[in-house]
Amino acid sequence: MNRFFLPPDCINDQQVQFPADVTHQIRNVLRMTRGDVVAVLDNSGRVYLVVLDSMASGSLTGQVESVRAAASEPKTRLTLCFGLTSRDKVEWILQKGTEVGVARFSPFISSRTLAQDTHLTDKKIARWERIIKEAAEQSQRGRLPELDAPQTLGEVFADVQSNDEAALIAWEDAAQGQSLRQTLSDLPADSLILIVGPEGGFSEEEIAQAKTAGCRIVSLGPRILRMETAAIVMPALVLFELEN
Ligand code: SAH
Repeated sequence: MNRFFLPPDCINDQQVQFPADVTHQIRNVLRMTRGDVVAVLDNSGRVYLVVLDSMASGSLTGQVESVRAAASEPKTRLTLCFGLTSRDKVEWILQKGTEVGVARFSPFISSRTLAQDTHLTDKKIARWERIIKEAAEQSQRGRLPELDAPQTLGEVFADVQSNDEAALIAWEDAAQGQSLRQTLSDLPADSLILIVGPEGGFSEEEIAQAKTAGCRIVSLGPRILRMETAAIVMPALVLFELEN
């Protein structure tokens, strides 16, 4: 069934008013007609089954047939912090990370990231938000993952230090990294921050800062993963362990 995230004010009691872009998609791209059913999400974890009304007039409405809770949201809220990199890799991380179950994406710049500027153009932000939305609709997420403004790795560590959320940082130096399973076994599982390094990895100094901030260093196994692989494997392994 086709799924659409709509702004909550499009849903009033039993009636849904579709915004222009979604109307266009339903009518002209999907060629759906009166009586067809779509799933509407209000980004609060609810799914509405909606029967389309007549499409004769300019705007499209539908009637809510039933409401239920989206069953697909992970119980653990994962924030994925990753090094800001080339556009195609970032887009891949946003799309696949949404499918896997990341709740919040938080890009950073560090001493070895390709990008060294935290500024993003409005056009890029809009594109990245659209990629997240489409992936969330396709993978049947109940909530849209959030996209933070890029920050420095120092700011990521400062946030970790100042709040109670547990943070795990992936470091390929196996001798120092504890296994993910073992680390997760003694952590509260309601929310976690996961930090994955850039192409060039983390410097020794950054790892020392991470330790000071209270991050736990974990290994993702004996093979070295590319940053975009690590950014997907880490949340997938964490949810696999926690959702059991
Ligand atoms: N240090 C290497 C590789 C960086 S890999 C280099 O200098 O080229 C990019 C990021 O992926 C790393 O910073 C780390 O966060 C993560 N990563 C990749 N393989 C990993 C592994 N086996 N265990 C833990 N983290 C890993």
